[in-house]
Amino acid sequence: MPELPEVEALAADLRERVVGRRIERVDVAAISALKTFDPPPTAVHGHQVTGAGRHGKFLDLEIEGGLHLVVHLARAGWLHYRDSLPPTPLKPGKGPIALRVRLADGGGFDLTEQGTQKKLAAYLVADPKAVPGVAKLGPDALAADAATFAARIRSRRGQIKGVLTDQDVLAGIGNAYSDEILHRARLSPFAISDRLSEAQMTTLFEATTTVLTDAVARSVGQGAASLKGEKRSGLVVHARTGLPCPVCGDLIREVSFADSSLQYCPGCQTGGKPLADRRLSRLLR
Ligand SMILES: [Zn+2]
Repeated sequence: MPELPEVEALAADLRERVVGRRIERVDVAAISALKTFDPPPTAVHGHQVTGAGRHGKFLDLEIEGGLHLVVHLARAGWLHYRDSLPPTPLKPGKGPIALRVRLADGGGFDLTEQGTQKKLAAYLVADPKAVPGVAKLGPDALAADAATFAARIRSRRGQIKGVLTDQDVLAGIGNAYSDEILHRARLSPFAISDRLSEAQMTTLFEATTTVLTDAVARSVGQGAASLKGEKRSGLVVHARTGLPCPVCGDLIREVSFADSSLQYCPGCQTGGKPLADRRLSRLLR
């Protein structure tokens, strides 16, 4: 799933390639992907793209006339830019393309989603805050200072893995980068948020800033096509179950969490003790 660094890189890519160009038309191939109906997509036909940014993990394309195309790529969504789009119209409901933005000079981009679970969401709005997920976002994970960060984390009592990835607490961190942040901070993913010491909180803040800043630096300028590979190569624990931890050499382990799983290093994060997989032990009981 694209998180803060990847969405930031996509926004940077759009600023470079698309801002200043004119939209010829917007084609919606997956009807369920477009969550708004007023204004209709035709409202941006002939309008110039004036900016590109992000709100947490939401991408925001600013369009002349005061409109925003806000996109949440969900788990399997992506943006594919092309210098030249095929002239044939999109066939609704066929293939991974959810929505196509065709520019007046023949280029443009597709929003795509792999798999059968269709969760990609696009909104055409006058104010990004009209998008429910954007309205309730906490401060951006890279913009919060140490005091704000600590206050936000302590505002929600729970396992730190869940609190870090709660977009209402801090915006932008998902499953992959929370694993990386907690490993760098040497914290158990099951540590309780409001019981962290001052020193642990400072370490967590610094780890968050470092991990996300490094990932943005690696991602921006890579171009959308190679971004996913770049994300993978920069990760130390996430999706590396069974491989040695580059810090201590212990084997990276995995445990189920929420509707997915998390990876961590027992040597660095849990005093050498593997975490109990609650879902598994519940099944065995
Ligand atoms: Zn380790």
